[in-house]
Amino acid sequence: MSIENEIEQLSEQLESYNYQYYVLDNPSVPDAEYDRVFQKLLALETNTEGHPLPSSPTQKVGGVALSKFEQVTHEIPMLSLDNVFEAQALKDFMKRAQDKSTSAEIEFCIEPKLDGLAASIIYENGVLVQAATRGDGQTGENVTENVKTIKNIPLKLRGENIPARLEVRGEVFMLKAGFAKLNKKLMDAGEKPFVNPRNAAAGSLRQLDSKIAASRPLAFYCYAVGVFDGELADSQFARIEQLRGWGLPVSEEVKRVSGEQACLEYYQSITVKRPNLAYEIDGVVYKVDNIALQQKLGFVARAPRWATAFKFPAEEAITTVENVEFQVGRTGAITPVAKLKPVFVGGVTVSNATLHNKDEISRLGILVGDSVVVRRAGDVIPQVARVILEKRDAEKCKAIVFPARCPVCDSEVERIEGEATIRCSGGLFCGAQRKEAIKHFASRKALDIDGLGNKLVELLVDHSLIKSPAQLFNLTATQVSSLPRMGDVSAKKLINSLQLSKKTTLARFLYSLGIREVGEATANNLANYYKNIDALKDASVENLQSVSDVGEIVAKHIYYFFRQEHNIEVVNQLLDAGIHWPEIKTASQSELSLTGQIFVITGSFTRLTRAEIKTALQDKGAKVAGSVSKKTTTVIAGEAAGSKLTKAQELGIAIMDEDALMNLLNNL
Ligand code: NAD
Repeated sequence: MSIENEIEQLSEQLESYNYQYYVLDNPSVPDAEYDRVFQKLLALETNTEGHPLPSSPTQKVGGVALSKFEQVTHEIPMLSLDNVFEAQALKDFMKRAQDKSTSAEIEFCIEPKLDGLAASIIYENGVLVQAATRGDGQTGENVTENVKTIKNIPLKLRGENIPARLEVRGEVFMLKAGFAKLNKKLMDAGEKPFVNPRNAAAGSLRQLDSKIAASRPLAFYCYAVGVFDGELADSQFARIEQLRGWGLPVSEEVKRVSGEQACLEYYQSITVKRPNLAYEIDGVVYKVDNIALQQKLGFVARAPRWATAFKFPAEEAITTVENVEFQVGRTGAITPVAKLKPVFVGGVTVSNATLHNKDEISRLGILVGDSVVVRRAGDVIPQVARVILEKRDAEKCKAIVFPARCPVCDSEVERIEGEATIRCSGGLFCGAQRKEAIKHFASRKALDIDGLGNKLVELLVDHSLIKSPAQLFNLTATQVSSLPRMGDVSAKKLINSLQLSKKTTLARFLYSLGIREVGEATANNLANYYKNIDALKDASVENLQSVSDVGEIVAKHIYYFFRQEHNIEVVNQLLDAGIHWPEIKTASQSELSLTGQIFVITGSFTRLTRAEIKTALQDKGAKVAGSVSKKTTTVIAGEAAGSKLTKAQELGIAIMDEDALMNLLNNL
């Protein structure tokens, strides 16, 4: 392609990006992509005779004033800013400014580069009379009514020496918190969310209905003066202070400094502050402070020569999804991870991004092969922000298929309806979950293996001495003492406590297996109900739900766990290693006189805590549920019982107060 053609093509591309961004407030590509094309065009034009053409996007301020608004001609054009992307380019800018001055070291007014849209507000005799957008720099849109609804903009200035006519320029932006809320509201109403706070601010300010604008969380900071009648200070910083004095909002972060070092330090310190600022900034603006020197430096086509913006590294970039792999976490959660064509974003090269789960994949509508926008802000892990549908090649893209078996241990994958995450059910066997499974097995409420802390478990696994809890019991003192920082004495102690831990209870043993959502209390209930492990192993999902506290989801976790051959193997190995517990007696009929009854406890009690009442009822064979339904047998209502009591009354369910409950428990 000839250079001329390339210039033409890049210009067209930028025009189309501009249209999406400035007219529709809905950018099609990240800013970094726009900036990349812009810089490329600029470089070509600089080296090509006859270029740039005055109509080139590099020579114009990007916006457009929409005809649905009344138009406003700016008496002094509202320009854009030149950008630099690295320290050296900033130093060059500073040097060029310094060279035009006779002072030893010139000063700079440094301001955060607010990520919103520029607005001009005119005050006459201190009263707000007109507000306009930047538009194409010459002509903007009259948005006076909308601007008047922005809460931190004064309708009337206060203080002394206010010029009879004063044009204040600044940025209209949206606070981060307000942006998140607005997008949630739009999505709840089935509408399209805004891509970023900048576009949300632009879309809100350019509403024909000022009631809508008023409902949007917009704010304004001023950073310049346009036209004015009267006297103003002779420096940028002092002018900003004057504006502040008249009641106009100014960012707290504006500083005046001199020297390269101080200028670069400001950039560093605001980079650190950035995540905690209430508003988005996309860089730092350096302005020559002295107004006379500003005038001497003058302008180029679209920007002043006395100011430049040092932009932060882009937080968004475009790349392609080459594949999706599935990773198994420490607790068995299987996470889809997008393998990306490596891309530099947020200061690092990113080649992986988690897709979290099925819900996130549907929300993004992402396919393998898609072009996506990857976002990495601050230290936050990289995310796929959105898919660029316009770039999708339907023939080359493939749907993301979730595995039916664990990619690490080949156990079945457990899918629970209504849960977005899928999990490996080979908890005791799976290599990815090994360390966590053994730590849990040894923990205090499980087998309580004295001397086997988390660090030691990690060492044992890392040195390939054990792969599953069962192998703990094959360890020898010599093996253990060969580990770093393990002496003979502690090794012997560990072997001894392993022996002691073999004598346990069925409840502890069940808890130690680390079945999902089977905590201490559920393990207890399961032990009391089934009395031995074989009965539990064979139990169906329905049967498991007869156990107190076991609902459908927990029942499914237990059922799946015992359907995995690998898990059964480890359980058998543990029993073979000699783990045992005292037999659980079958309770006599009188002991279990509440079997089949379902209680609900509500309100507060004086003699027993709710937990104690629950255990007492469960010990008698009753089931204790969390909510009242037709199946409820009795509601135990204490002081200040609320909606559950009302519901019980409505359904005509038996109600018992504390005295009646004590009677029942004492007489069973
Ligand atoms: P700009 O955003 O790079 O800089 C100029 C603007 O900065 C000013 O008009 C003003 O609104 C703002 N600003 C914020 N704080 C300021 C301060 N303290 N002092 C002075 N000005 C301050 O330039 P632009 O012309 O508004 O927009 C061009 C940029 O917009 C591009 O570099 C690109 O990042 C983005 N853009 C993106 C797309 C896209 O498709 N993603 C399209 C067009 C433009």
